[in-house]
Amino acid sequence: MCNTGVSSYIDLVSSLHLRELRKFYVNVGPARIFKSHEMCLSCLRELPEHTIVCGHVLCNACVLSFGEKTGPTMVTMSQCPLHLDKEWVDKWRINIKPRHAGVRVMCLDGHLQKQLGKDLPLTKFFDLIVGTSAGGIIALGLGVESWSVDECMSSFRELCSEALRPREFRGVFGLRQLATYNHGSINRTKLFEGLLQSKFGPENLLFGGTPGGEIATKVAITSTTSVGHRAVIFTNYNRPDETEYKLPYKLQRAPGPETELKLWDVARETSAAPPYFKPFKKKETKESFEDGGLHHNCPVWVAHHESKLIWDDGGSGSPDVLLSIGTGESKHQVPQRTKGRGSSENNLLRRLFRTAKDRIDEALSCPRIWQEFSRENVQAQSRTSFDHRQRYIRINPELEQAVPGLDDVTS
Ligand SMILES: [Zn+2]
Ligand SMILES: [Zn+2]
Repeated sequence: MCNTGVSSYIDLVSSLHLRELRKFYVNVGPARIFKSHEMCLSCLRELPEHTIVCGHVLCNACVLSFGEKTGPTMVTMSQCPLHLDKEWVDKWRINIKPRHAGVRVMCLDGHLQKQLGKDLPLTKFFDLIVGTSAGGIIALGLGVESWSVDECMSSFRELCSEALRPREFRGVFGLRQLATYNHGSINRTKLFEGLLQSKFGPENLLFGGTPGGEIATKVAITSTTSVGHRAVIFTNYNRPDETEYKLPYKLQRAPGPETELKLWDVARETSAAPPYFKPFKKKETKESFEDGGLHHNCPVWVAHHESKLIWDDGGSGSPDVLLSIGTGESKHQVPQRTKGRGSSENNLLRRLFRTAKDRIDEALSCPRIWQEFSRENVQAQSRTSFDHRQRYIRINPELEQAVPGLDDVTS
């Protein structure tokens, strides 16, 4: 009785709101010309989360008010509340995660190569996938494009073999480094960008444009701003900004579809590893980005923070599962770095030494990041929860050979 009263009250308020809303958009211009990725244009209050077929992005509350609940995790809409168009022939399906449902998270380290199994439909098992660099490209393939692991790996291999092949001087010590310096990037940046556009579509947006229906899996990709070298993430979802603590990165969100990142932009940005690729410059905003691995090569902390911010009803705070997939660890010692030559060292050599140092530090940082994460989260909470430790899984196979170079396409 009480519930019926509440629901009819909400229905009444919704229909009154709808009437005023449509009058408003008739007065200010057709609703279809207004698009925002920062605010729900239906209630003008909440964060927009769900993109519908007309391109408008609505908040959870508005979807629940104006849509029809057709299952425990599904709402369908046949019309946009902002404009009185004909009812859509195909109902638009929106995934709603039930409150307090467990969260399943996967994070993929930078420069992943052979670690993923072939036949597992991984994306079906995860609510959030976070990826860095090559792991970022795979996360976009698995989570946004719904590629199978096989499709993902064959696309990835094609990208590597076509675009990560040094243009010249391969195997000639010194000359290849010189080529790196002279060209800004030894790899075929343009070819790589063309391939990414063919894989991810030249116009498909990461957020706010989902031509085939809403994507249930949330995906976050790490990157670094070229100016100031700040860590950022790009996401196919919106979530509240942090309130209690300051995050070690920022979520980049464009105000609307004109400046929103395309899928291939994001794939290019997360993998813009210097000196192999030039930093990626977004034409529309003039912002420039580099490899996500520079800050979050093992993105487990990003995955941890994001799952807390997206699902603030996470119960005990532990995910159902958090799977972290690494790039592999070599049994072989990483060679000692050659010391610089002091003040006589020229600019080119200094840059090359710095690049080599960054690469080695980066390769070494993932096990350390996981250990820190494990110490602070897994071991501490394991004392209070018996099954806690089993929820956190790290797969980082031991490699027979040394960690391969970023451009080693045979590995
Ligand atoms: Zn709303
Ligand atoms: Zn609309």
